[in-house]
Amino acid sequence: EQDVIDYRKSLAIRVSGFDVPKPVKTFEECGFAPQIMAAIKKQGYEKPTSIQCQALPVVLSGRDIIGIAKTGSGKTAAFVLPMIVHIMDQPELQKEEGPIGVICAPTRELAHQIYLEAKKFAKAYGIRVSAVYGGMSKLEQFKELKAGCEIVVATPGRLIDMLKMKALTMLRATYLVLDEADRMFDLGFEPQVRSIVGQIRPDRQTLLFSATMPRKVEKLAREILSDPVRVTVGEVGM
Ligand code: ADP
Ligand code: MG
Repeated sequence: EQDVIDYRKSLAIRVSGFDVPKPVKTFEECGFAPQIMAAIKKQGYEKPTSIQCQALPVVLSGRDIIGIAKTGSGKTAAFVLPMIVHIMDQPELQKEEGPIGVICAPTRELAHQIYLEAKKFAKAYGIRVSAVYGGMSKLEQFKELKAGCEIVVATPGRLIDMLKMKALTMLRATYLVLDEADRMFDLGFEPQVRSIVGQIRPDRQTLLFSATMPRKVEKLAREILSDPVRVTVGEVGM
């Protein structure tokens, strides 16, 4: 146990929450399938970043997480890799349609980056990723969603539009990521985010990532996460 405490300290990681899983030192320790390991190697990722070392085992264990780490620390892979595992763990026969993994990000640019990262890891499994943000016509987007997907990467406003148009249902959604939660609040998307969360079954796994943790984000996290593990890397502002 002292080893774990020392190791976390060496990575500038602080954790809180009930029964927090041990941090890993390598991707191998996460038990990823060979296809995922190959994709990680292809990306040139040799070892997990600090946030990944602690967030990967937490999320892979099925727990909700609040992940706080500055920009550039590798948060995307921390939620995309376990999402692939989560999707592959679903029983094959499912009556419901619609995405299993839903990722919300504040801007088109951020959503697009996540979309590209998700595609790299989803490809080996034939997991379909749809991008739901401005830049494509709503009709094109509607058609793409109607064709089906396992992962949706979205900005909140456009996702609400697509839900209203019944381009997709959230019946199958069990893995929800709110990325850059602080910026979503800064941009005024709190009502949209709350509406989306309210449309996803409560027994989902919920992940919230942010670079800072203002009180409003803290309040949302308390309301929508169940028994979360909180992982903070480095010093973080409010
Ligand atoms: P954040 O979301 O925390 O701002 P990103 O997920 O965008 O950070 O990652 C920042 C950069 O680090 C990206 O270029 C990404 O490809 C790279 N990266 C992520 N994980 C690793 C890793 N384990 N090893 C090396 N580079 C990584
Ligand atoms: Mg990010």
